[in-house]
Amino acid sequence: MSIPPPEIHLLPDLVANQIAAGEVIERPAAVVKELVENSLDAGATRITVRIADGGRRLIEVEDDGHGMRPEDLKKALGRHATSKLRCADDLFRIATLGFRGEALPSIAAVSELELASRPHGALGGYRLALAAGTVTGEGPCGMSEGTRIAVRNLFWNVPARLKFLKAEASETGHVTDQVMRLALAHPAVAFQLISQDEPVLDLPPGGDLRGRIRALYGASFADSLLPVVRTSGAMELTGFVAHPREAKPTAKRQFTFLNGRWVRDRLLVAAVRDGFKGFLEPRLHGAVFLHLELDPGQVDVNVHPTKSEVRFRGEGEVFALISKALQEILTEHQGNFSLLRPEERPVITARTIVRPAGTGAPPLAPTIVVQERFLPPASAEHQSGSPEVRSSGRPEESTTLELGHPRAAEPGSPYHSATPPYGTTGRPDDRTTRPGPSPAPPHIRRVLQLHDMFLLIETDAGIRLVDQHALHEKALFLTLDPKRASLQVDGRQELLVPRPVELTAAETAAVKPLLPALRVHSIEAEVFGPTTVLVRAHPARLKRLDWVRFFADLAADGGAVEIVQERILHRLACHGAVKAGQRLNDEECRDLARLLFEMDGLEHCPHGRPTTLDLKWDDLARRFQR
Ligand code: ADP
Ligand code: MG
Repeated sequence: MSIPPPEIHLLPDLVANQIAAGEVIERPAAVVKELVENSLDAGATRITVRIADGGRRLIEVEDDGHGMRPEDLKKALGRHATSKLRCADDLFRIATLGFRGEALPSIAAVSELELASRPHGALGGYRLALAAGTVTGEGPCGMSEGTRIAVRNLFWNVPARLKFLKAEASETGHVTDQVMRLALAHPAVAFQLISQDEPVLDLPPGGDLRGRIRALYGASFADSLLPVVRTSGAMELTGFVAHPREAKPTAKRQFTFLNGRWVRDRLLVAAVRDGFKGFLEPRLHGAVFLHLELDPGQVDVNVHPTKSEVRFRGEGEVFALISKALQEILTEHQGNFSLLRPEERPVITARTIVRPAGTGAPPLAPTIVVQERFLPPASAEHQSGSPEVRSSGRPEESTTLELGHPRAAEPGSPYHSATPPYGTTGRPDDRTTRPGPSPAPPHIRRVLQLHDMFLLIETDAGIRLVDQHALHEKALFLTLDPKRASLQVDGRQELLVPRPVELTAAETAAVKPLLPALRVHSIEAEVFGPTTVLVRAHPARLKRLDWVRFFADLAADGGAVEIVQERILHRLACHGAVKAGQRLNDEECRDLARLLFEMDGLEHCPHGRPTTLDLKWDDLARRFQR
């Protein structure tokens, strides 16, 4: 049987535009990017972004740029309609953010769009309304000079795409991150972001990059940044690098811009990593805000529809410029102790830093390496790190582990207990003051940590092998559950100095609506600026909680508050528990082992996996055929 060849036909414009929208417009933040880039290309000095329902219901971008003539409004909506490019050759000298002429028709195809514009000097504005790419209304309108584009009900006619959108908070967060990148790329332009009629970002005009960083991240961070100014041939690198102490386990504060465009390019990421070599543990990411300016002919920005990846002609030269600049600046400033706050007085050890070959600098004598006492909270990698690192944890973390029983605040710690520190479930003799080794319960003879991961407990009856993380996680899970009133222990700690937790703007926006839900767990936290959550109080037993990871996970969970509420307990228990790979001292081992004999239900972790393996002396004897 022969199959007839299918007939070939041209796709209707709407379908073609919807396909293009799939590439360029994946979520509200992408619409914001395209619209704001158009405003910047139009020479705007003030840009206001308004969103409702994470951008689903409304995304509106208003600017004071050069505007569009009424007859151009419709033209702008045509496929491949652009005022920024005339011939293919222009592609290789692109100086504007847009050039593909795809954004407006793509957005129009998947939303209800309203364009209104008044060119400078014109007497009034003209507006055009469309639904799914078809004009539904137009006419003159009153407005100030510039352009206002409103996108309503994004993806209303493409339900498949709608399904991929995350919860409102999460989409709002993506929009916030996007506006931050654009604002850092164009520090002189005023940006306002308003979500649900509430201002999220309000960034004044006329400033420089440091001013913008100050507005976004606060003065102490911004003022401690080291300036970067380097040139190589026609390339110019400017911006800032932060002291290595500002490094984080994620690359949230690494921003690279190319000719005014935010890019996340592998070459640039690698160059920054290389630049920090020798100054950072490999798992950490240093903070940078780098603007690279080069001849548009030296870079192809047309390799990706959203233009976040690029291709350089002189890759090696770009890499060397960035890496060398960072190495030199960090080397030069490594002894600058004024960069450190008094409580962060460094420990100084002599070590040789090998400067990468080809930097042209004279060979270095052994130099001083600043080793900071105040390292980020202990993590699995940390614990397995060098002994120097292990011995220099935060003072509050070098004290006794908070296991099942909250204990009194350590002297000199920034904590004080609002309520009596001990629980009602602990035995009365647990109320003795620390420090001092606690005697093991009578039936525990010995506890030994194995492989930094398991505890071997010898009891009168036999041996128990315990997964340290799983056991502690389950104990926290049970005692933190507000439903178990009998296990609720009043170990709440009000922090005299609230603890700032640095997140991305996206995470901050995503966790903001969830913070009230944390009160059930005695956690008081509030949003403080676009990228910081302040923790004011928490249960004493969560002293070791990895707040950054806890909040980042909550943000990623998304979903309705009720669903999140369910996960909070899991997250708290998981991130508050000792980790696998974490070395514990004898006392900590004993405290953890004791839990097993004091609480019921610890044999399985919250995920249902076993936490212990038991072998009775009889069993053991039998196995040896005694
Ligand atoms: P591109 O930016 O790639 O040219 P777009 O579809 O984003 O394509 O925009 C099409 C055209 O509409 C632009 O080339 C520009 O002339 C005009 N335009 C879009 N937004 C604005 C704005 N905010 N102010 C002035 N002109 C604009
Ligand atoms: Mg554009």
